[in-house]
Amino acid sequence: MQKRYLLTPGPTQVPPEVLLRMSQPMVHHRSPEFSRLFAEVQAGLQRLFQTDQDVLILAASGTGAMEAAVFNTCSAGESVLVVNGGKFGQRWLEICRAAGLAAVEIRVEWGQAVAVETVARALEQHPEVRAVLVQASETSTTVLHPVQALARLTRHTDRLLIVDAITALGATAIPMDGWGIDILVTGSQKALMLPPGLAFVALSPKAWQRATAASLPRFYFDLRRERQAQHKHTTAYTPAVSLIAGLHEVLRLLQDEGLPQVYARHAHLARATRAAAQALGLRLLAPEHPSPAATGVWLPPEVDGGQLLNAMRTHMGVDIAGGQDQLSGKIVRISHIGYAGPFDVMTAISALEMALVAFGCDIELGRGVRAAQEVLLTGWPELKPVSGTGSAGTGR
Ligand SMILES: *Cc1c(COP(=O)(O)O)cnc(C)c1O
Repeated sequence: MQKRYLLTPGPTQVPPEVLLRMSQPMVHHRSPEFSRLFAEVQAGLQRLFQTDQDVLILAASGTGAMEAAVFNTCSAGESVLVVNGGKFGQRWLEICRAAGLAAVEIRVEWGQAVAVETVARALEQHPEVRAVLVQASETSTTVLHPVQALARLTRHTDRLLIVDAITALGATAIPMDGWGIDILVTGSQKALMLPPGLAFVALSPKAWQRATAASLPRFYFDLRRERQAQHKHTTAYTPAVSLIAGLHEVLRLLQDEGLPQVYARHAHLARATRAAAQALGLRLLAPEHPSPAATGVWLPPEVDGGQLLNAMRTHMGVDIAGGQDQLSGKIVRISHIGYAGPFDVMTAISALEMALVAFGCDIELGRGVRAAQEVLLTGWPELKPVSGTGSAGTGR
């Protein structure tokens, strides 16, 4: 037997309480029992999205909600502006092209966040643009884009801001109504600590207006029909019942921890991971605008990242992520999103150090671990003996 450690930015680890909840007997999705559960889940999702709008639940991976966002609010031939700073920005572009939209592409160097002025200028030059599409957290480059500032550009205009927050929502605050985001999308297998299979999408009143006039074809992902059903606390088609039961438990866990604490935990783990990489002399992929979901780290050029990750998985049971497309083999991405704590960071850093040494790199074992420990320790100010309760009295 080999113990496995899943430390990738999706799928992520699932808490035991959630696994147990998902193993309960099936209930029918047109029953009062399911509708009660569904209504509570809907309310919990609104708190997470910080919106008064409906958060629709789809049976799909995250990309399903991305597709639904575009096909429900755009019409053939319309212009959109896509921020393309990585694999998932590229996906927005591909969806828009599949929909027959004219996309103005803003290419962003991988590892950088989009400059708000660049988007502002492009919008001035292209008055025909009807929507701006962006990632909140670009998982492939571990960058956080400035969504709040982008929302200021679109908020009081006819344009929509469509945000893929699949590795941001639940890791950092994204107040949909407060910032004026028009469409906010997420998925189950990242910060929401569930298996893959659920996607979520919420639309502002402006986006719903657009949905009425939009002419692109849609059937399974017709959000108007989905909204009608979800107002009756069920879904238009058979939902992923067990995942929704698990989600009920996830929302309870998040509520118990408190969302501000959930966000602080992610920031803290991300800080510790960055400190470790820097102490090892490894360059960060996104030093300026790092995501709280995962940390991308450049490998020494002599190391083949594919082989390194393979060796870590095979011999250590530790799964961290590599680079995609042009970053393939050159970086690793250490996840700290979802059901993650300090010792997930310690595991990842410690395993990475050992693997790098085994691959012949000139790094000192324990340097990264120590730097991470120093940051993580600041998260436990209460970790000291409490006066009056010594070891006496433990009964041993
Ligand atoms: C994971 C992810 C997606 C969705 O991918 P699926 O495989 O369809 O779930 C989209 N955008 C970002 C930023 C992601 O991290």
